[in-house]
Amino acid sequence: MNPIFTQLPTTIFTVISGLAREHGAVNLGQGFPDDPGPEDVRLRAAEALVSGYNQYPPMTGLPELRAAVAEHYRRFQNLDLEPAEVLVTSGATEALAASLLALISPGDEVVLFQPMYDAYLPMVRLAGGIPRFVDLAPPDWRITEAALAPAFSPKTRLVVFNNPLNPAARMFDAQEVALLADYCRRFDAIAVCDEVWEHVVFDGLTHRPLIAEPGMRERTVKIGSAGKIFSMTGWKVGFACAAPALIEVIAKAHQFLTFTTPPNLQTAVAYGLGKDEAYFTGMRADYQRSRDRLAAGLTAEGFKVLRAEGAYFLCIDLPASGIDMDDATFCLRAVKEAGVGAIPVSAFYAERPVTTVARLCFAKVDATLDAGIERLAKAR
Ligand code: PMP
Ligand code: GLN
Repeated sequence: MNPIFTQLPTTIFTVISGLAREHGAVNLGQGFPDDPGPEDVRLRAAEALVSGYNQYPPMTGLPELRAAVAEHYRRFQNLDLEPAEVLVTSGATEALAASLLALISPGDEVVLFQPMYDAYLPMVRLAGGIPRFVDLAPPDWRITEAALAPAFSPKTRLVVFNNPLNPAARMFDAQEVALLADYCRRFDAIAVCDEVWEHVVFDGLTHRPLIAEPGMRERTVKIGSAGKIFSMTGWKVGFACAAPALIEVIAKAHQFLTFTTPPNLQTAVAYGLGKDEAYFTGMRADYQRSRDRLAAGLTAEGFKVLRAEGAYFLCIDLPASGIDMDDATFCLRAVKEAGVGAIPVSAFYAERPVTTVARLCFAKVDATLDAGIERLAKAR
């Protein structure tokens, strides 16, 4: 058996969701909306499925979806991508796996920012990469040159960059993105950018794709997820976008991971990506209202919440809220005794964990958020 996997715990999302079910808790842990997703997009998928559109689609994705992704990023991020530079995958998770397996050789150093989404490190290790961590810390989770510089070396091959950052809900600003681009260029590193939260951004802030920085077009893989864009996390339709030299080798890995992604979902995503601006601004406004409701409710109960700029998560600063427990203890108590699922942010660190922050998902109807606030007040 492979020790990379035998030594891994079950993901924190599965653990907390299981405990939430067991204890009848309001689950604000694992990130999934309770909204069913846009009906027109679901109907497209249903029609395609019923009409018999169910055989293998092309390995790299339906041409109409590859074209729709390129056009979508032209419209929203002013990027100049060819459909041939888009690979459709089974969720962003598979896009990450295919990219890391394809681009890392054993012994390559890989820069990872902590907190990091839990899928990255096992995949980097599986590919034989040596992780080099850059620690980000609350309350501002800022990338500084002092933290970045020691992680890079002549052996650096690749950087994994999640922006907006789950779980910190941070959107990196122009200065931080430019600094990272500068390091990638200087050390001749490839950037694998997990941008699944690119549309879930607040307060009028602008998402800044690293691929748009000078000199990054040829060395960046940009990854997106229809599960996030359409609030349907079970859909598992993702895309990797990169210059031909990169995307062609990533496709070689993809062909032996999943080979293809259900064609009926691809058709619906191709349609959905063309929806007018109002859908995307409406989604942002709805989530922002939920964020503000949860933040106001928690603040009224004496919790100190951190700034939440992107992704549908809000973090609580435990010591600043007068809570004298580490995050794991608090989250276990919250789910078992108070009846609220929450995620300890320490689960997103491989070493030197921050243990003072708990993450809550606010992609829920008001009544669920209100119940969560009321119950959480009892976990203190
Ligand atoms: N990356 C990040 C940062 C995520 O938060 C998630 C899911 N929440 C994923 C990747 C996985 O995306 P998908 O479901 O499309 O595989
Ligand atoms: N990305 C989701 C989150 O951060 C969970 C995904 C999963 O359960 N693996 O909550």
